[in-house]
Amino acid sequence: MAPKYAQGAQSVVGHRWAIELLERGCAEGHLSHAYLFVGPPRIGKTTVALYLAQTLNCLDPQVRPCGRCRSCQKVQRGVHPDVRVLDEPASSIRIEHIRELQREMALSPFEGRWRVSVLCDFQRATPEAANCLLKTLEEPPPKAVMVLTAVEAQALLPTIISRCQVFQLRPLPVEEVRQALQSDLKLESPRAELLARLSEGRVGWAIAASADETLLRDREKYLVALEQALQQGRVARIHMAQRLARNPEMLPDVFNLWQSWWRDLLLAKSGNANVLTNVDREATALNEAQHYTLGQIVSCLKSVQEAAQQVEQNVNPILAMEILLLKLPRAQFDATQAHEVAP
Ligand SMILES: [Zn+2]
Repeated sequence: MAPKYAQGAQSVVGHRWAIELLERGCAEGHLSHAYLFVGPPRIGKTTVALYLAQTLNCLDPQVRPCGRCRSCQKVQRGVHPDVRVLDEPASSIRIEHIRELQREMALSPFEGRWRVSVLCDFQRATPEAANCLLKTLEEPPPKAVMVLTAVEAQALLPTIISRCQVFQLRPLPVEEVRQALQSDLKLESPRAELLARLSEGRVGWAIAASADETLLRDREKYLVALEQALQQGRVARIHMAQRLARNPEMLPDVFNLWQSWWRDLLLAKSGNANVLTNVDREATALNEAQHYTLGQIVSCLKSVQEAAQQVEQNVNPILAMEILLLKLPRAQFDATQAHEVAP
């Protein structure tokens, strides 16, 4: 079960191995100048980065992070002058951002021991910004630690990856997420179970969804969009692609959701409906699975994965979404027909 931290310390559920490695690095002075945390959206990458920032700057002589000292509290509230988080999912990271960061990092820490800069979703960096950051990675300023996050490492320049210590954060067991929701957030058991399953081990998503109904509403909206697209012809699909791509910051979540849906159809088709992610839509999944061949379901799953990778690698989101929607088959409502359609 997730470790408990003193109140005020960045509470991290799971990722215990990463926390231990980072704590040991801090305690023994074996710090890297740059870290890269890789993993699906809302899995806890920024949370682990902030935990590191607290550990590095905590004022307690024994337990770091203590969660109580002025420094820990400031990191927790997002107001520590030496800890900077660059997280604006809707826009790209431009060279001006990096230059400003470089000016800051060249200065000694203002009140802590270390300057910590967290650059979220670094795949959003323009090539100029990425090249500019490379200079800092090659000649890191003293007393500065940088943390980059990304959904997939392949989306970054190999020269950037090679200069970072890379941590691949994986989804937590659903059971661990459920326990955290029940014990830390005091959610009722059925709701904790539902959110834990829907999260697919992305604890940040589960916590956010427990507090914010719009996440579940968005989920519903994007599942309905997929259902509609499957019944539409080319022109309507192109319009839908354009509509969905209008919010590019939502696309990683949309692709994640659609992958979970096709995986569920695969499970339903192969008689494993007891382990569905979209557990509240079990009947629909069982029914839908009858409308496609196994080959069709597998190729839909692959197409969604490809589109997600393309968007990660800065392919135009409208184009990626159009290609995806046009590749999906037309829903077959005759169950007998589904067996005859080639994948
Ligand atoms: Zn502290």
